[in-house]
Amino acid sequence: MLFDEPDFQETIASVLVPVAVPRAYTYKVPPGKTVVPGTIVRVPLGPREVIGAVWDGEPDAAINPAKLKSITHVYETTPPLDDDLRRFVDWVANWTLGAPGMVLRMVLRSEEALEPEAPVPGVRRIEDAQPDRMTSARHRVMETMEDGFAWTRSGLAHAAGVSSSVIDGLIKQNVLEVVSMPASPPPPKPQLDYAQKDLTPAQQAASEGLVESFKKGASVTLIDGVTGSGKTEVYFEAIAEALRRDRQALVLLPEIALTEQFLRRFEQRFGVFPAEWHSEITPKNRSRVWRGVASGDVRVVIGARSSLFLPFRELGLIIVDEEHDAAFKQDDRVPYSARDMAVVRGHISGFPVVLASATPSVESHVNAELGRYGLYELPHRASGADLPELNAIDMRNEGPERGRWLAPSLVHAIKDTFAAGEQSLLFLNRRGYAPLTLCRTCGHRFQCAHCSAWLVEHRFQKKLVCHHCGHTEPVPQACPSCQSTNSLVACGPGVERIAEEVSDLFPQARTLILSSDLPGGPERLKREMKTVEEGGADIIIGTQLVAKGHNFPKLKLVGVVDADLGLAHGDPRAAEKTFQLLAQVTGRAGRVTGGGKGFLQTYNADHPVIRALLSSDRNAFYKAETDARRAAGLPPFGRLAAVVVSGPDKIFAENYARALARAVPADEAVTLLGPAEAALALVRGRHRYRLLVMAPRQFDLQSYLRHWLGSGPKPTKGLRVQVDIDPQHFM
Ligand code: ADP
Ligand code: ZN
Ligand code: ZN
Repeated sequence: MLFDEPDFQETIASVLVPVAVPRAYTYKVPPGKTVVPGTIVRVPLGPREVIGAVWDGEPDAAINPAKLKSITHVYETTPPLDDDLRRFVDWVANWTLGAPGMVLRMVLRSEEALEPEAPVPGVRRIEDAQPDRMTSARHRVMETMEDGFAWTRSGLAHAAGVSSSVIDGLIKQNVLEVVSMPASPPPPKPQLDYAQKDLTPAQQAASEGLVESFKKGASVTLIDGVTGSGKTEVYFEAIAEALRRDRQALVLLPEIALTEQFLRRFEQRFGVFPAEWHSEITPKNRSRVWRGVASGDVRVVIGARSSLFLPFRELGLIIVDEEHDAAFKQDDRVPYSARDMAVVRGHISGFPVVLASATPSVESHVNAELGRYGLYELPHRASGADLPELNAIDMRNEGPERGRWLAPSLVHAIKDTFAAGEQSLLFLNRRGYAPLTLCRTCGHRFQCAHCSAWLVEHRFQKKLVCHHCGHTEPVPQACPSCQSTNSLVACGPGVERIAEEVSDLFPQARTLILSSDLPGGPERLKREMKTVEEGGADIIIGTQLVAKGHNFPKLKLVGVVDADLGLAHGDPRAAEKTFQLLAQVTGRAGRVTGGGKGFLQTYNADHPVIRALLSSDRNAFYKAETDARRAAGLPPFGRLAAVVVSGPDKIFAENYARALARAVPADEAVTLLGPAEAALALVRGRHRYRLLVMAPRQFDLQSYLRHWLGSGPKPTKGLRVQVDIDPQHFM
């Protein structure tokens, strides 16, 4: 070893950088700095500087040291990413066939969090000092400062009920001194026994089981409980147990619009609000949560799927609520399922993972049935209310007149509900006014210029919108093809059109559209959710957003405008998804007081999904779906990967997809389907072709795909190849 010689004291390290390259790069460590695997650093990369992390594995000692660049900054106050998190990043990259650096990028999402927060000025009492003259305002300040802690000037003025000039006066007299204090004090800790509900016997058994499961290390438990059965209260007890064991807990939720109500419920149980993590939080809060999670000051996070990549110091529990929800799947960049990766994270670190749903995914249902997952069932509502009574409306002979979308029997039921002072919800999973606009004179249809999709009319915004790329154009005065005026007709309904019909039918009712695309964003949505919750609306028209876990206590009637909508796709998951969506949305009715009713408008009253919903025979549905999947070798009995080739030139993309298919390594276990033009053949100006790889469950699909894509023809000329393991949709 030559390390004692001063000339050779320079060391090198592997650094993973947040770009799509297959492995870590080698950098020099600046003299006097020490780094360990996980240390967060800044390094030069081409013309720019990026944030990365020192990674495991030997640096490449064969590189000429003269050619190596040096780490430019070491973030010394941020704890290194721990072993488990680094293993998790590598695992996710390996599983998704993504670049580890791109997975790491999801961890290092808050650059600002890497520097300590700047202190803010505050004031503190100087011991024994007294003002020359005591006024009642000064007295209140002195009283407020009794405990000797530092305060911000404005905080103190507010708490003591004085103007800030009073405080300035006391500083001048050397009664108070100006100090610097941390910008945000650590958040208060959840109180384990703040307010526990009396659990029903089924809830009690489930919560005891979860508490018990901590002794086993890694485990997965499914809470399969009907809508309103009190699953949240059950997993709150698991959170309490994690906290009791000095571990942090993470709750993954599919939708931010839900978090508002959830935060309040958490506060009722634990006396404090949990930290939130999702795309809508401010950069400042984002850094605070990141830092707090890393330091251990933050004990419970509730967040969207990306919170799985937070650098928890001592994570000991993950809850995935509404585990069946497709929002847990990220489709772009690194396509991953947050539910499945939560299970992996729990496995790596040896802690329990809890999945909760009223309509579990077929995968989780099978895993529970086979005993791979623990299972607790909550077959009744916690309030004792009965489940809603469901009816089909056969649109072939009970449908509405032309140009109307609500059948007479549904209108009748809404009328009764409204007369009784109760809420109705009309569900249609289609934003906007009409999904298609055409010209009556020449038949011209409005299509997106960049996608193979119709433009959707949004009447409130007076625009035609592409729901795939966001392209918008004003609704024209005349047909662009034949120049006729007043010739455009809207075909089919979206929520806005249903709202119009409702206003016609019930002019006295307070109606509200809940749809994610209305102006005002998430803030408005949260407000409106609350309005509904408090009974401030009579008839609600909503998209799938309303199907997600929200609790509307006054809701009695749910009408599904088009129950067949999701069944039309040739998608292997269409039946499962439709079943889940419709069971969830109708399950919103009568959650607290019972007496809920649901109506499904359908042209396929005999479809197995509709029949299973009507007979409330969930098990029949799961059994039929499981048998069908087993017979077809579909997940969870087989494995799937989608390979999507896209490019600006159609012929070129198609030829490349064909060449790729020809290069597929022969293996009798593997079936390759395609290439076929994707259902969404053109998106944002890119032509898309799909290949689908099917293999048995035990097959090492990742190695196979890696070998295939590594040895096959390379994409050129703007072509892109995206691999999606366990695809959730097939567009
Ligand atoms: P789920 O998540 O299973 O749909 P929730 O946890 O949201 O159900 O509970 C549904 C409703 O029942 C909520 O209003 C909740 O406060 C209430 N609830 C749950 N458990 C109990 C209980 N043990 N006693 C009284 N009310 C309960
Ligand atoms: Zn025309
Ligand atoms: Zn488009």
